[in-house]
Amino acid sequence: MTIFDLRRRFKSGETTPAAFLETLAGEIAQRDREVGAYVSHDLESALAEAATADLSLPLGGVPIAIKDNINLLGQPCTCGSRFLAENYTAPYDASVIRKLRAAGAIPFGRMNMDEFAMGSATENSALQTTRNPIDPERVPGGSSGGSAAAVAAGSAIAALGSDTGGSIRQPASHCGVVGLKPSYGRVSRYGLVAFASSLDQIGPLTRTVEDAALLFQAMAGFDPADSTSLDVPVPDCLGGLNDGVQGLRLGVPKEYFGEGIDAGVRKNVETAIQKLAAQGAEIVGISLPHTQHAVATYYIIAPAEASSNLSRFDGIRYGRRAAHPADILDLYKKSREQGFGPEVKRRIILGTYVLSSGYYDAYYSRAQKARTLIRRDFENAFKQVDAIVSPVASTPARRLGAYAGDPLHEYLSDAFTLSANLAGIPGVSVPCGVTDFDGGKNLPTGLQILGPHLGEAMILRVARAVEK
Ligand code: GLN
Repeated sequence: MTIFDLRRRFKSGETTPAAFLETLAGEIAQRDREVGAYVSHDLESALAEAATADLSLPLGGVPIAIKDNINLLGQPCTCGSRFLAENYTAPYDASVIRKLRAAGAIPFGRMNMDEFAMGSATENSALQTTRNPIDPERVPGGSSGGSAAAVAAGSAIAALGSDTGGSIRQPASHCGVVGLKPSYGRVSRYGLVAFASSLDQIGPLTRTVEDAALLFQAMAGFDPADSTSLDVPVPDCLGGLNDGVQGLRLGVPKEYFGEGIDAGVRKNVETAIQKLAAQGAEIVGISLPHTQHAVATYYIIAPAEASSNLSRFDGIRYGRRAAHPADILDLYKKSREQGFGPEVKRRIILGTYVLSSGYYDAYYSRAQKARTLIRRDFENAFKQVDAIVSPVASTPARRLGAYAGDPLHEYLSDAFTLSANLAGIPGVSVPCGVTDFDGGKNLPTGLQILGPHLGEAMILRVARAVEK
């Protein structure tokens, strides 16, 4: 069921917000036992909100599942980490939660994720395994794997995720749902636990493009509590959604179709592009020449920012505190040693290293220059084209455990999604068919559509044409 379907059922009286929440809770108890998308849910407080739901609002009475790194007053917010799993309760609502509530939505359910959103498979969660509902032997993608898996399994209508380097678009692609990463500054980050503050954005994961547009509009907009929030009007993304692609210029970057891309993924993406051409789009070959540097650039900048952001987890104020420390330094060390998992420690060490005196110029400041070149690639491309189309990931969902102990392999798999975050531009993943891969049958693949800064309405319109 979609958000629009559910709203129709509420309006016709076929179901009520409270009755529907009970149904969802039943789904979670049954079907989610296999998928493992939900970390927790609080039916009681959701039912209390349902009792006063205003069905005339755009999301009136609609339950929305929330990635477990977005603060919700009085609720746990684990970030998939042992550090916060035991004794952290959010002291306030994230701004997106306030906006969703103002639009009538009911936040319901906290979704599993890679620890502090570091990962591409949700296997870095310290809490539980999330399986891909299309094939339970496979990962759902990540880091918003719980959000994508629940929407794909039908145990959530729609969900929020966060995307620092692909964490909304890639799990959407792997689970066969729609995922939108908004432009940097479009959606408030206030109340999102920071991973890499210059890259993080919150966005929707939904079953349809129309739902993504509706949810995006409800959560976007200026927020004085986030200094990077943009004070610009939120466009009407629903109005022109069905305008089609007639006359649009769509760029196909040659760097996104090189070696290493799975044949089935390539075929589905090329077929989608041909169909867009058949609907009247003009297909233009383009180049984004600094694409090859995206992985190295991202894996310097993101860990650098993470090492700074995660210094607040010291055993004093938030979450876990080690027992019987010898002194204050020992308290910091033991709390961090016990609370963080291996990938988070790796990122903190990488980030501290690239920021340290003697290496700062060689790594961090060069990465910032490379970031500027990557952003300029897009600025130049958008002088020629309205949107850019590409694969989301080079393969469909891999098997659980396939890259165990091989973080570099995992980092390289992010090659097509990182650049949008480095450039601050919006991107959407929309399903574009299924393929067989590594013994798996009919696995979803996604088409990525990238747009110019603040061009969400444009990319959603192209995504809608693909969906049709
Ligand atoms: N896979 C990337 C990483 O591990 C991106 C994660 C994200 O977007 N949160 O950093």
